[in-house]
Amino acid sequence: MGARRPPVLRITHHLDATTIIALASGTLDEALGVVAASHVWWCAKCRDALKEAERVGGYLLNKLTRNDSAVSSADGRAPDQTPGANEEPMHAANIGLPLPVANKLGGMSLSDLRWRWAVPGLSLHQLALAKGGKGRLFLMRIGPGRAVPQHCHGGEELTLILRGSYSDRFGRFAIGDIAALHENVVHRPLVDREDNCICLVATEAPARFTSLIMRMIQPFVRI
Ligand SMILES: [Zn+2]
Repeated sequence: MGARRPPVLRITHHLDATTIIALASGTLDEALGVVAASHVWWCAKCRDALKEAERVGGYLLNKLTRNDSAVSSADGRAPDQTPGANEEPMHAANIGLPLPVANKLGGMSLSDLRWRWAVPGLSLHQLALAKGGKGRLFLMRIGPGRAVPQHCHGGEELTLILRGSYSDRFGRFAIGDIAALHENVVHRPLVDREDNCICLVATEAPARFTSLIMRMIQPFVRI
């Protein structure tokens, strides 16, 4: 599972420039890095932007070390296969997982996972980080037509949609899309009626729910 890139995905929400530069320079925390690299695995546009950031970074590094004759590693790399315009879109259900996610799952598929019930309609599967890794990385599965209770975030949150789709006040997010939420942004994602929505989520700090009842149960459901 997982290792082949799909020919085409209709991706509309991408990584921002700051995240791409941080990914290129290796300064993203592991959890955020797995989500960003997984989007790049699927997204030709962000893959090109990452290569450009690596090329510029390599050039600047050469300048700084006064070694202008050196060739950056990005220049010497074989170009990736970029999906062609005439390729047929693939059905979302047939798409394997991005390699960085597949590696974290150790070969298990999404249907094999043990999901931990959190609140009605919402289950979680925690992914391990390297020792000392900051924040959290987890998969979240939300049922068809269900909403995540309204919440904001204690820090940066980066989400990649792996299956299904949802909408919130920022638009509609489907397979391959990135949702980048900054601290104190409030939203209430509502999943489309057709299918479960499964997301890969990296957070720097736990979500902050706006309802009293969610704040009361949060320590018990560990969301
Ligand atoms: Zn992208």
